[in-house]
Amino acid sequence: MNVLSNANLKAHMGRPLTPEGKFLTLWQPAPDFIHCCIESRGCRYSHNYGACIMCDYGIGRNLSPNELKSALYSQLLPHMNETNILLLGSYGSILDESEISNECLTVLLDFLKKCKVSTLIFETHCESVTREKLGKIKEFTPKGTQVVIEMGYESCDQFVLHNCLNKFLDLKVLENAITLTHEMGMLVTLNVFLGAPFLNPADQFETTQRSIQWAVDHDADSLVLFPANIKPFTLLHKLYLKGIYSPISQWMLPILLQSLSEVVLERISLSWYGDRKNFYENGEYPLIPPTDCDNCHEVLFDFYRNFITENKGIKRKELINRLLKYPLKCNCRNKTYDNLCKSQSRYSENEIFDIISNL
Ligand code: SF4
Ligand SMILES: [Zn+2]
Repeated sequence: MNVLSNANLKAHMGRPLTPEGKFLTLWQPAPDFIHCCIESRGCRYSHNYGACIMCDYGIGRNLSPNELKSALYSQLLPHMNETNILLLGSYGSILDESEISNECLTVLLDFLKKCKVSTLIFETHCESVTREKLGKIKEFTPKGTQVVIEMGYESCDQFVLHNCLNKFLDLKVLENAITLTHEMGMLVTLNVFLGAPFLNPADQFETTQRSIQWAVDHDADSLVLFPANIKPFTLLHKLYLKGIYSPISQWMLPILLQSLSEVVLERISLSWYGDRKNFYENGEYPLIPPTDCDNCHEVLFDFYRNFITENKGIKRKELINRLLKYPLKCNCRNKTYDNLCKSQSRYSENEIFDIISNL
């Protein structure tokens, strides 16, 4: 186990377990879109290797098929009439049998057969994407429903994956999972991270730009951008408390979006852009989203609301250009531009090792 793994596992200590009986967590990013997260023991990469230092999807227990069935019918079914897009995840990878057993997957797919949604998204690690799993999903999915496989990816930069995020991801495995998903007639969406630690803002920005391009070049049908949130009980949070990591500026995201073509913009979704303040029950242990100020917060969130509901690239570009020219009373946007103009820099592997060893 490497030094980042040990430190991240230590940071997870004491995090609250999911309260008994909270089998599903539902989140509604848009009126016709539900994200349903199924309780599980947690991600195997987190358990086994202390991956990834910004992530805490929670820790609970695996459900029995009966528990899952009753939760789906009592909690999710009432929302299904208004739902067009359903995103299904677990605390790690929904297609990983160490979290969601084969029997539970059958229960889930059987339930989904009755739901008339236009798009079903399964959030998973690329290692869990197999021909058998996809074949099973295909067998159960009603005709006319588009299946999307959403995979955590974060970055195409090996240094960022290994030394900054401690993400255990083999890009070759991801490439194979993309090919297989397409062969099975399904779409691919990849999650890209903005704000890796141990890089300055200019480097964070450039690395994410490059990672978006990698995803496009490797045939991802769409991308989800995740600006960094500092979640309690993570190593990222510890780095923040020690002054080694700062929250990213909220303005980095629209500036990044402006650098993308209309074609790519059409394929972008946003997640955790500051719309979620809590992860644990009762507002305990709030997370720290990207920063803005009282003067620009509403301007930015108004932009996000419009951006999300608009799906034409050309219109999205107009929204971004309008936002970036909008007269502001604060200096947040200018400060972000200034930081992005500095030359890129990152800590070396040895420096990171020393920092973590001395935490
Ligand atoms: S980001 Fe994905 S792979 Fe990494 S710990 Fe979280 S759930 Fe696991
Ligand atoms: Zn501001």
